[in-house]
Amino acid sequence: MKALVKTRKGIGHFELIELDEPEPKGKEIKIKVEYAGICGTDIHMYYDEFPTTPPITLGHEFSGTIVDVGEEVTRFKVGDKVVAENSWSACGICSLCRQGRDTLCPERIAVGVNRNGAFAKYVLYKEHCIHLIPENVDMLSAALTEPMACAVHGVIERSCIHSGDVVIVSGPGPIGLFSMQIAKSMGAIVIVAGISMDKKRLEIAKKLGADYALDIQKEDVNHLVNTLTNKEGADVVLECSGAEPAVDQGIHLLKKCGIFTQIGLHGKPIKIDFEKICFKELDVYGSLSQTNFAYKRTLTLLSEKKVNSKALVTHIFPLEEWEKGFKIAEQKEGLKVILKP
Ligand SMILES: [Zn+2]
Ligand SMILES: [Zn+2]
Repeated sequence: MKALVKTRKGIGHFELIELDEPEPKGKEIKIKVEYAGICGTDIHMYYDEFPTTPPITLGHEFSGTIVDVGEEVTRFKVGDKVVAENSWSACGICSLCRQGRDTLCPERIAVGVNRNGAFAKYVLYKEHCIHLIPENVDMLSAALTEPMACAVHGVIERSCIHSGDVVIVSGPGPIGLFSMQIAKSMGAIVIVAGISMDKKRLEIAKKLGADYALDIQKEDVNHLVNTLTNKEGADVVLECSGAEPAVDQGIHLLKKCGIFTQIGLHGKPIKIDFEKICFKELDVYGSLSQTNFAYKRTLTLLSEKKVNSKALVTHIFPLEEWEKGFKIAEQKEGLKVILKP
């Protein structure tokens, strides 16, 4: 089968090569990949900015159909339509694993990072990572389960949002647009903040239900927050852009005792006025990857039509045209770029 592989360490070294089809043993499950999304992490791996163990097939955001199961598999069968958590294994005994936070386990092995992933015709996963796609969720919507689960983790599990809260989402990329929709499903009043470059993305935010979508280079977000909150400030900031000025602005726009959650990655140290956190008595949280429960919530939200994931897909390319897809994803021309093996 054809697979998109990072063949060795260093910048680049992505190649479409011929690999043997994987054969499932024990609790392993062989899945035929339907759609697989390009993630920011894949782009970081191209530039060798994210730790990987090549040679590995890339891809960890996907949907597919089970075509074969190992002899110990009991919960799934051939023909099931599924998605998967991208943890292949973790130690299972450290305190993080015991708390269900295995994605933070130092011994975690991730599919598409340390093991062959989904940019191929077939991928192997272990039974405990697999989730059935609800019958009313199509395969393209389901392919975005993994990135949406990241947003579910940040918005629902790490932040504390109540109905009627004024929530600011900075950065209208895929994670920001998921976060906005999830916060809306919780009854929040949501302001999506972007810059002039995000014009199209801000339009999509409005279409997907954002109460306000602002270009902060042209519009006064401070004034809007003051009007909505009687000058108290926003209740929650979900920082999804990973841009340095957005952190400072987010802290400024928050009310005293507000909540700030960092979901976007900066990729480098940034400068902020940390003291403001004391003076405002803010609660500051970090959010990374997901939990098992975030996947379950994600599939429920998709099934109940509380979140539209398919609307974020702007491009679909055959796997052979991966270079084109990566270019568009990197230049942020679209939102979510999907490869079809
Ligand atoms: Zn991802
Ligand atoms: Zn562990």
